[in-house]
Formats: sequence, C-alpha cells, structure tokens
Amino acid sequence: MKTLEQFVAGFKAQDKNALARAITLVESTLPEHKALAQSLLAALKTTKTTKRIGISGTPGVGKSTFIESFGTMLTSQGLRVAVLAVDPTSQVSGGSILGDKTRMEILARDPKAFIRPSPSGGTLGGVARRTREAILLCEAFGFDVILVETVGVGQSETAVARLVDCFLMLLQPGAGDDLQGIKRGILELVDMVVVTKADGAQKNAAAQACHHYQQALHILRQESWHPPVLACSAVEKTGLTEIWDAVGKYYAHLGAGLEEKRSLQRLHWLDEAIQTNLSDWFEQRVSQQEMERVRSDVKRGHLSVSEAVHKLMSQLK
Ligand code: GDP
Repeated sequence: MKTLEQFVAGFKAQDKNALARAITLVESTLPEHKALAQSLLAALKTTKTTKRIGISGTPGVGKSTFIESFGTMLTSQGLRVAVLAVDPTSQVSGGSILGDKTRMEILARDPKAFIRPSPSGGTLGGVARRTREAILLCEAFGFDVILVETVGVGQSETAVARLVDCFLMLLQPGAGDDLQGIKRGILELVDMVVVTKADGAQKNAAAQACHHYQQALHILRQESWHPPVLACSAVEKTGLTEIWDAVGKYYAHLGAGLEEKRSLQRLHWLDEAIQTNLSDWFEQRVSQQEMERVRSDVKRGHLSVSEAVHKLMSQLK
C-alpha cells in the first residue's frame, strides 16, 4: 500500500491512479485504510469551490448519454469533470450499473475527466458516505465539476440531494402525462428538471413535457428559486449550454447560501456518522447469542421492546 506521502505526491503529480486508489481507501472497511484516507483528506484540504451536481432519473431516461455529452462539453471548455455514482443496488463482483466506464466511452478517455462507479454493497447510508468522501478527494485532486449520478431507487435521491449543491432530475418526454408516476417528494428536492431526448419524433412531446413540469413545479415550489425545466438532446448535443447556464444562475442565486447549504449537509453527515458508529459500537459489545435470545423473546412476545432495550443497555453500563 502507498504511504501518505506517496498519495500526496501522486495527487500533486495529477496521477489519476493515485486518486482511484485513494477512493478505494475510503471505500475500504479496514480501519487502517480508513485512517489513511482521513489523513490524506486532512493533508489535501482544499479551499477551492467546485460545483457538485446531482443527476437522477430512472433507468433508460438517458443519464449516461447526458453525462457523456454534458461532461464532454464541460471539458471542452477547459473544466475538469469527475463522475461518481450512488447505487446501493450495485453488487460486489458485477461492477456497478452506474458510472460504468463502458457507458461513457468518450468521457472515460478524456484526460480532463475521471469516472468512478458506485461503491458496491452495503446500505444506502454507507454508499452515500463513501461517495461523500470520494467527492472530497476529487475536489482535493482539482476537479472543477463533480457529477453524482443516481438511479431512482429507494431513498437514493434524497441521499444524493444531501451530497450535492444542485440536483437535476432527468425525465423523458411522455412521462409528463403521468405526473403521478413521479414520486412527489422528488419534485420537492429538484433544483432543475431536464427533459431528455428532445430530438426527432420526440421533439414536440419534449416541449409539451417541459410545459407540463413547469406548471406542476410552479404550484409545488413557491420558493425564491423556481426550478427551471429545460429540454435537451444528448445525441444531437442541443440544450446543453442552456443547462450549464441555468446551473450558473442557480449558484448565483445561492450566493453565500451555498456555504450554509454545505454546512447543513455536513451536520447531517455528522449525525449519520454518529448513528453508524454507535450501532457498530453496540454490535461489538453485545454478543450475537445474547442478541438472538432477546430478539426471540421479543418476537414471541415474552419481552416488550422497551424491556429488551433496557436489558441490553443496562448490560453495557
Ligand atoms: P440511463 O439508463 O439513464 O443511463 O440511459 P442511457 O443513457 O443508457 O439511454 C437509454 C437509451 O436512450 C439509449 O438507447 C440511448 O441511446 C437513448 N438516448 C439517450 N439520450 C438520448 C437522446 O438525447 N436522444 C435520443 N433520441 N435517444 C437518447
């Protein structure tokens, strides 16, 4: 394994392999790896403000095609782009369905870009925590824009919204007829809606969908920032600069509020980390047999939940 100095030197030399290996450290469950990753993050502290952008949407909506075209547009402007993914369903061996290099071949070969699939396995909280640290590593490495991709499963959008500054929801034309199909909570999270595949025969349907979502958001979101609804074609590469301009407007709107947003997110992750550490601490101290005994008693109704908790906690004292 590399030493802290080797990692720092690797980052200074812009060695993407060092970045990939550093992310592997934050994803590791070994305490020594975690400790080294934390020292690295402390050693590389950056004051640079990157743009952290979340991109969500159901499978097939066009996320990877969008990220490929949008990311390539950004790198052609001289920006450095990292793509990370949050997919709690990804398997240990099979690689991730998200952030997969084979899905974004042009961007994957782009020297100004870096693509990392989702950490595999574990709970959503665990995957999101590791992605949060990967974001910090990418920022320390010098990326300007971090795109965090997620798929609409479970609570993954909520987790990603807490990792990013600006949350984009991708929707397909046609889906606008069925607003019920979109989880209402998601429309409350979004900072921008992007209607994909606005080309060919779908162009009109995309314009209609934009109109539909605009109206829905207008009713739902009466805050100072009205989430814009923009159409694009990742294939024809249209609408992409407009989306980037809207991202810029969103940051201008946030202004000093960006730091506040990020500090509230840090507090959220602190609470999460305390919960995780507490349950690890608990599991290390209560024997499996004892736990099974208590669970069985609760299941059969021989012990109430509060009695069980009291019993376990008093053993720890
Ligand atoms: P993901 O599962 O959300 O990552 O979706 P993909 O990016 O893999 O796209 C799903 C399908 O939609 C693929 O067949 C793409 O070729 C197609 N697609 C993606 N973007 C566009 C677009 O801008 N226009 C058209 N016509 N098709 C697109």
